[in-house]
Amino acid sequence: MDKMTRRDLLRLGAAAGIGTALTSFAPAIAQRRGSRFKGNPKNIIFMVSDGMSAGVPSLSEAFSRSFRGKGSFWHQMLLNPEVSLGYFDMESLNSLVTDSSSASSSWGTGSRIVNGAIGMLPDGTRLTPIAVLAKEKAKKKVGLVTTTRMTHATPAGFATVQARRDDEDSIAPQYLNVVDVLLGGGLRHFAPDLRGDKRDLLGEYKSAGYEHWSLRDQLMNSKQPDKVLGLFWRSHLPYTVDQINTPAMRRDVPTLAEMTRAALDILSRHKDGFLLQVEGGRVDHAAHANDAAGLFFDQMAFEDAMEVAVEFARKRGDTLVIVTSDHGNANPGLNGLGYEYGSSDEAFTRLLQAKMSFEELPTKIKEAGGKPDADTVRDMIKAGMAIEIEKEEAQVLSDAIAGKVMPVPNKQHRNLGGLLGGILSNYNGIGWIGMNHTADYVWVSAFGPGQEQFEGLVKNTDAFVKMTRMWGINFKNPSMTREQAKPFMRALSERVETPHWA
Ligand SMILES: [Zn+2]
Repeated sequence: MDKMTRRDLLRLGAAAGIGTALTSFAPAIAQRRGSRFKGNPKNIIFMVSDGMSAGVPSLSEAFSRSFRGKGSFWHQMLLNPEVSLGYFDMESLNSLVTDSSSASSSWGTGSRIVNGAIGMLPDGTRLTPIAVLAKEKAKKKVGLVTTTRMTHATPAGFATVQARRDDEDSIAPQYLNVVDVLLGGGLRHFAPDLRGDKRDLLGEYKSAGYEHWSLRDQLMNSKQPDKVLGLFWRSHLPYTVDQINTPAMRRDVPTLAEMTRAALDILSRHKDGFLLQVEGGRVDHAAHANDAAGLFFDQMAFEDAMEVAVEFARKRGDTLVIVTSDHGNANPGLNGLGYEYGSSDEAFTRLLQAKMSFEELPTKIKEAGGKPDADTVRDMIKAGMAIEIEKEEAQVLSDAIAGKVMPVPNKQHRNLGGLLGGILSNYNGIGWIGMNHTADYVWVSAFGPGQEQFEGLVKNTDAFVKMTRMWGINFKNPSMTREQAKPFMRALSERVETPHWA
């Protein structure tokens, strides 16, 4: 047999489904650039696993494989050399560490802004979000799908302008007649009896032609409306781990994949194309809580939604799917454990046994009389997380519940969630660097016409430039340098912050 060339090897690898793993760096890049798609996309689906640190998608493959015998969709997708992979640099106008509102606004307006604001420069200059441009200048339909409240930072950053992200009552009316499909949680900012000002936004949306859904059954079985406001929970949708283990939640609340499919069914009937943002928002919340099981179950749900979007795009060839995150959060990673790290895999699979998120803990604590002793805490953790912690560890948690939090070297972890995440890491192997967002570059993967524009390192604001150019929209929002922003920062920094995931 003749000596094989590198190109032959490459082809052989691809045919065997081995992807590029056996090839050297340069040919793999050359092959990845050979996208089969031509021209510009008619539709763009922008998917965000909020707060997904770089370690999350790599471990979600192992998690999915162990939990249901099949690997994660993203992993499978990346083995295919047709799919692009790069990084976003997500820095904001005031910090290396960004938050979800400035991150989404950077993609959605092309300008870096200060954390905590939506579509607005610190001097009060209002920016025009991409949803408005897509609608007015390119005749696109627009959809927002999320597992958080509909008015939360990531969906809001594509379609609204607000000085403070926390002002969700003021964000809720801004989607009216700009966004056609709204699916997620957050009824409390639309229903008159739940809003501070008693304004009947549900009525206003209905008068403007939106159908209102509140149950999964309506989403699965209704005739598709042109416009819909689907709000399936009062606040954020439940964590996936809680939903899997609670029949009423399974019955009433759609999964992210189901909402994504419904949105695509509605939006794809429009002849001029659409912009759809899909957010797996609770990956971020689980990371803030250092809740590893909560995090990986939600990442799995996100990747299920990704499969729906990519399959849609694969069949059509006119749709660009961009999959990314807005920032890292607490940077979970699997530690090497035991002799030659041989215990790490087993530790990691303990996550699969979890029956609840940390969010459910307060309810359990209340059920246990409010101040459970160490034995009760141990039983609670065993029932919820399927992990038997040591008595001394249970004592630390019992004390923390009673308000006596022991000093720990990393102050971010000096609270019940931090202590619990740290103690459980002795058993499930997942360590955390803190409880806040982090500055790391985030993964971005793309599939469809224009995917090659998301290879390598991409500045967050360039996503806006690329998407608008693809649709022939010639528009530039005002922007500021860090120096120009500084005088406004002191006033902003004096505000009292409430945790945004609350
Ligand atoms: Zn966050």
